[in-house]
Amino acid sequence: MASYETEHASDPPNRSNDEPRRPDLSSFLSLLSEVTPDRPEERAREGAVPVPADVTAVFRSLAEAYQVMLRINDNADSDLLESMIENLMETADRPPREVKGVDEEYIAALERVNIKHVKKDADCPICGNAFVEDTHPLLVRLPCHKNHIFDLECIRPWLLVNGTCPLDRVDLAKRERDRKQKHLEDIKKNAAPEDEEEEWDGLYG
Ligand SMILES: [Zn+2]
Ligand SMILES: [Zn+2]
Repeated sequence: MASYETEHASDPPNRSNDEPRRPDLSSFLSLLSEVTPDRPEERAREGAVPVPADVTAVFRSLAEAYQVMLRINDNADSDLLESMIENLMETADRPPREVKGVDEEYIAALERVNIKHVKKDADCPICGNAFVEDTHPLLVRLPCHKNHIFDLECIRPWLLVNGTCPLDRVDLAKRERDRKQKHLEDIKKNAAPEDEEEEWDGLYG
């Protein structure tokens, strides 16, 4: 069994805690704020409907950011990341009328996972880095599967534009839209004179 010293002797030398392991997403995020319909207050051009070229720019910008990740990070799980990049480039070529990802509120409400509760050898499916190597790990679990745990930083941009789990393609954004729709209908129903609250059975979708 390796001693503490021999294990740590093999750590990459001079890795500072602040060394960026992930690409800069600032341009992606500012492009995204231009086209996101439910965040009109963040839009620079007030009332503007997103034009296809803007939507294309958003998807291309994220694809480029992930390409940087693939290049600078030896651990990157290339199969998954490559398929994500491919998906983004295809969407960029045929941009949808609107970006159908989840909103920041949804991201903020995702279950946070304590590093102590993940398996010792678990890594982020996107960047491939072991969770434990992060000085300040910020891990989230997607509601589709208990083992679908990601670095928040890695999964957030993808969910904002795509809304699906990259591992099983469950459409979390659609689920969330359906949930909100159901919620609105419930409110309407409860406000109606003929009160039918007994009929609610907890099913939707
Ligand atoms: Zn990651
Ligand atoms: Zn999943």
